[in-house]
Amino acid sequence: MTVQFASPTMGSIQPSDLPSNAAPDLGHRDLREDEYWRGIPAYRELNADQFHDHRFQARNAVTSLAKLRVVVGDLVESSFWSDVEQGLRRSTMSMRVSPYILSLIDWRQPEIDPLRVQFIPLGSRFQPDHPELKLDSLNEQADSPVPGLTHRYRDRALFLALDTCPVYCRFCTRSYAVGLDTDDVEKLHFSAQPRRWDDIFAYIAGHPELEDIVISGGDMYNLRPEHIEHIGRSLLGIDHIRRLRYATKGPAVMPQKLLTDNDWVDSFTRVVELGRKQAKDVVLHTHFNHPNEITQITRAGLDRLAQRGIHMRNQAVLQRGVNDDIETMGALVRRLGYVNVHPYYIFLHDMVQGVEELRTPLQTAVVLEKQVRGMTSGFNMPAFVLDTMGGGGKRHVHSFEYYDSHHGIAVYTSPAVKPGMLFFYFDPIDTLDPAVQAAWAEPESRQSMLAAALEGARSSSLGR
Ligand SMILES: *Cc1c(COP(=O)(O)O)cnc(C)c1O
Ligand code: SF4
Repeated sequence: MTVQFASPTMGSIQPSDLPSNAAPDLGHRDLREDEYWRGIPAYRELNADQFHDHRFQARNAVTSLAKLRVVVGDLVESSFWSDVEQGLRRSTMSMRVSPYILSLIDWRQPEIDPLRVQFIPLGSRFQPDHPELKLDSLNEQADSPVPGLTHRYRDRALFLALDTCPVYCRFCTRSYAVGLDTDDVEKLHFSAQPRRWDDIFAYIAGHPELEDIVISGGDMYNLRPEHIEHIGRSLLGIDHIRRLRYATKGPAVMPQKLLTDNDWVDSFTRVVELGRKQAKDVVLHTHFNHPNEITQITRAGLDRLAQRGIHMRNQAVLQRGVNDDIETMGALVRRLGYVNVHPYYIFLHDMVQGVEELRTPLQTAVVLEKQVRGMTSGFNMPAFVLDTMGGGGKRHVHSFEYYDSHHGIAVYTSPAVKPGMLFFYFDPIDTLDPAVQAAWAEPESRQSMLAAALEGARSSSLGR
């Protein structure tokens, strides 16, 4: 087989090979700055100062169907509301949406709006769960030496500081703990209490191999300023801890807080500054999934952090109908770079209960990675990863030992985390051939598909 290169001979580059003078696509810089909330009946009378106040945003978060109907009024037809009602009944997450996000939804076509998809379930869109899916599919509880701390990787651990968030995402990986109990799920609770955290700090202090703590939850946006500082000082006070990341969905759903909650921003800044004095890294991890979540107010909030020398990185989740096309993913990556947020990870959607219609096949991530790389600088190029079921940790999507996209089964190894073990990822059933879908419904053929995949992975030369 011969391999062809685009420019086979040096020196024969034609002018047409050079970047063209055609108007470049700068759409990622077009950040909304109109008064978009005035399209929502309940917010029509508000001026910018009223709407862009974090207290207004927090107090008016929409947590029930009844309230949603009042806020959105007659913008949608009544059949839409019964669809939402069905969706909420089946969801493992309770609903909580900020006025900011609600205002950015295009209510002329809410069925396909990428922000609606993430926060408001529709019964008509549900797909049955994959037969191999479990509630805590990442097995976080099995790797928890102390409640609220997951210590899976040798040098880093995940600290669940609290179990509430400024919004609730339908697809939350920690639906076993985060948010209110729902009809289907009674949750573990991790409250924001310094006394509960003491056991966690003691464990970390007693494990010198730990260097890096992810402070998550729940969401640190909901931590009181003094708690942010207490956690930061306690962890930075441990000699072997070199890196902290505070993870929050906040800037994506309530950017106003970065501008109007000075106590909160100042507390976090003091932790960053304390870290800097000790030559330790304290950064903010954000969770933007779609370019529409980043508006002019987001930029103003993030600029404030950047001016204080605070570094930000983003972890996004790849979702069907949200960001699974080249144009949207490319715009997200470039817009993040534009507002000083490093795109760190794009996660293939975890296998979480009740959100099968949001997952994409592995193939989608492989194609997107290929297409997006090169649109911007390498340091602003996210790694496309998946978090393996069963605790193998994060793997680059391209690094599978075996992938059979026809049956929708991929197999990974994770030598540095769980040597010698194999880990599965399964494409959503509804994206497979009808005949294959039928095979998944039969326990016997299911077992033989799994066995064939394991056999394929074991015989792969890559796995050794
Ligand atoms: C993702 C994760 C981390 C951090 O991993 P990085 O690859 O360093 O971002 C740590 N602990 C757990 C349990 C995780 O899931
Ligand atoms: S903000 Fe994070 S922790 Fe909270 S519901 Fe969303 S994904 Fe889950």
